[in-house]
Amino acid sequence: MQKQIESIEYFACGYCENYLHHMFRHVPKQKLCFPAGVFLIRHRKFGYILYDTGYGVELKQRKLKYWLYDLGNPFYITAGQEIASQLRHRGIAPEEIQYVILSHLHPDHIGGVKSFPKAKLIVTKDLYRQFNHYRLRDLVFKELLPADFKARLWPVAPNAMDRCIGAGNGNSAITNAKKGTDKMMARMKGAFLSEGNLLLKKADEVRSRYDLCLGGGYGLKTYDLFKDGSLLIASLDGHATGQACIFLPEYRLFMAADVCWGILLLRYTSQIRKLPLLIQKNPEAYFKNIDLLRKMQKDGIKVVVSHDRPERVRRILAGLPNKSSQNQKGLQQQEEIYE
Ligand SMILES: [Zn+2]
Repeated sequence: MQKQIESIEYFACGYCENYLHHMFRHVPKQKLCFPAGVFLIRHRKFGYILYDTGYGVELKQRKLKYWLYDLGNPFYITAGQEIASQLRHRGIAPEEIQYVILSHLHPDHIGGVKSFPKAKLIVTKDLYRQFNHYRLRDLVFKELLPADFKARLWPVAPNAMDRCIGAGNGNSAITNAKKGTDKMMARMKGAFLSEGNLLLKKADEVRSRYDLCLGGGYGLKTYDLFKDGSLLIASLDGHATGQACIFLPEYRLFMAADVCWGILLLRYTSQIRKLPLLIQKNPEAYFKNIDLLRKMQKDGIKVVVSHDRPERVRRILAGLPNKSSQNQKGLQQQEEIYE
């Protein structure tokens, strides 16, 4: 079956450095590098979609608040590391980007957004509701957003409780599959058997799509962006209100922005220090959603976050079914920078 999402590529667009022992108790003293990850998703029909835009050099301008930000969170970005520049290097013009999904509005996620003049800018409605109420401590520097941000904005409301892939497109077999149980599926299969192998194959297809459901057990509401079940947006509070996370059912891949700062750091969650916990907008939701990521991983869903190490993200993307095309040259360069 042809996939709607043709490829997923990863770019590290600048990075920041922090000490592990400043973030968590009882851990080795170690300086860690956190790349600002950007994902380029290609949809068969709707073209290129960016998930976040990394750091931009504008944040290096001499302004007191940028200087304070750098003091608490030393960051590094060059013009060549900006997402637009890396895409050009890859042969993709900024005008080709149709959609930019912003997980939240921190500087390491919106730094490159001004470079995409044609893109619709997608955020969750929960996030947008906060837009006029941000304070300095929320670290949303609105001047990093394009002047026509509001004109190009597409706020989405993930509101389909336990939406199953395909349930929204009138495919009753899949809707039934969602409503049904394994027992019902077995019965369907039995009926199909008597009708021949072709129908049995169809039952398997329905089953495999049924298995791609995000929702059952997670209690997550999602927004089906293209109404074809290929890209579901969920809103996860914790690090920021209404943080947009993406589930790609065809790959069983969950892209979780800053739900945590690195999947390899999940094991230290309970040792988090007070200051980094204070940075989380809603600590209770933060812990709840960390548990959610753990549960997804246990269920075999691949989970990546924005500040994962490039080699981890690369390994996961390369291992997806029908491997995504990867910009090997670009990745090699990134390895040199971030290793
Ligand atoms: Zn971040």
